[in-house]
Amino acid sequence: RANFALFLAKQRGRNNYQFYNDELNQKMKRKMMLEVRLHKAIEQEEFQVYFQPQVQLENGSISGAEALLRWECDLGKISPEEFIPITEETGLIIQIGEWVLRKTCHHIKWFTQNGLSPFPVSVNLSTKQLMHPHFIDLLKRIIDEEHVDPKLLTLEITERAFLDYEDAKDVIAELRKTGVGLSLDDFGVGYSSLSMIKNIEIDELKIDKLFLNDALESKRVRALLDTIIQIGKNLDAKIVVEGIETAEQHEILAKQGVQGQGYFYSPPLPAAEFEIWCHSFTKNNGYQVL
Ligand code: C2E
Ligand code: MG
Ligand code: MG
Ligand code: MG
Repeated sequence: RANFALFLAKQRGRNNYQFYNDELNQKMKRKMMLEVRLHKAIEQEEFQVYFQPQVQLENGSISGAEALLRWECDLGKISPEEFIPITEETGLIIQIGEWVLRKTCHHIKWFTQNGLSPFPVSVNLSTKQLMHPHFIDLLKRIIDEEHVDPKLLTLEITERAFLDYEDAKDVIAELRKTGVGLSLDDFGVGYSSLSMIKNIEIDELKIDKLFLNDALESKRVRALLDTIIQIGKNLDAKIVVEGIETAEQHEILAKQGVQGQGYFYSPPLPAAEFEIWCHSFTKNNGYQVL
C-alpha cells in the first residue's frame, strides 16, 4: 500500500513537472515568436502612439497627456505589458524608444498647430534608454529636429531607473539641463519611492492606481493616498493620479488640487481621435458634462 502511495506521488510529481515544463515551453515559444516580429515591427508600421488625456480636476481643463505605445501584428494586438519587457531584454527598446520619442514630439507640434492650447505630453522611458551612453544627445537632437519646446515634453521614469542612484545621477543632471520635465511613474508601489524623491528633483509624481482602487473601501488606504498627495505638494511637484475609472473616485480627488488620468475621462486614443476628444472636452467646459 505504501508503495502504491509512493508510486502515485511520483506519478503526480512527474505530471506536475511535465505540466510546468509545457507551460514554460509555451511561454518561451511565444516570446521568441514576438521577438522575431518585433525586429520588423517598425518598418512594417505596426506601431502606433496613442494618447491619454490628463485633466486638472479642480477646473476641468486638459493639463497634459501620456503617450502609450500600441502594437498590432499578424497575431493581433499585443499589450505593452507583454512586449515592452521583451524589447528591454533584447535591446530593441533603444530603437523603438527613439521612434516613440520622435513620433510623440511630432504630434506635440501638431496638437498646437491644430488649435489646442499647449500642454505637456509624457513619454515612458525604460531604464535601458536612460542609461544608454548617447541618450542625452539623442534627446537633444530629437527636440531640435522636431522643433519642440522641451517644456512640452515630460519623461516618465520608474524607480527601477535609480536602483543604482550613483549610476543614474549624472544622466539625470544632464536631463534636467535639457529643460524637459521629469515624472516619477507608479509612485508608491516600489520599495524605494521615498528615498528616490529625497535624491532627485522631480517635477511630477504619478500615483499608482493601486491606491485609488482601495481608497473608497479602506480608511487606511485613503489616509495613505492623502498623505502621498501632500508629500507631492510639499515638494512643489505636479501630481497625477492614475487609473480613475468611476465618478466616486473622481469625487474624492476633485478638491485636492491634483490631476487625473483614467478611463473615467478617456481611454488612450489614436492621435486624431485624441484631438477630437480634446476639442470637444474644451468646448463643453471640461468634465462638468462627463
Ligand atoms: P504606465 O506608464 O503606468 O501607463 C498607464 C497604464 O494604465 C496604461 O496601460 C494605460 O492604458 C492604463 N490605464 C489608463 N487609464 C486606466 C484606468 O482607468 N484603469 C486601468 N486599469 N488602467 C488604465 P498600457 O497602455 O497597457 O501600458 C502599460 C505599461 O507599458 C505602461 O504603464 C508603461 O510602463 C509601459 N509602456 C507603454 N508604452 C510605453 C513606451 O512607449 N515605452 C516604454 N518604455 N514603456 C511603455
Ligand atoms: Mg507611464
Ligand atoms: Mg503608471
Ligand atoms: Mg506601469
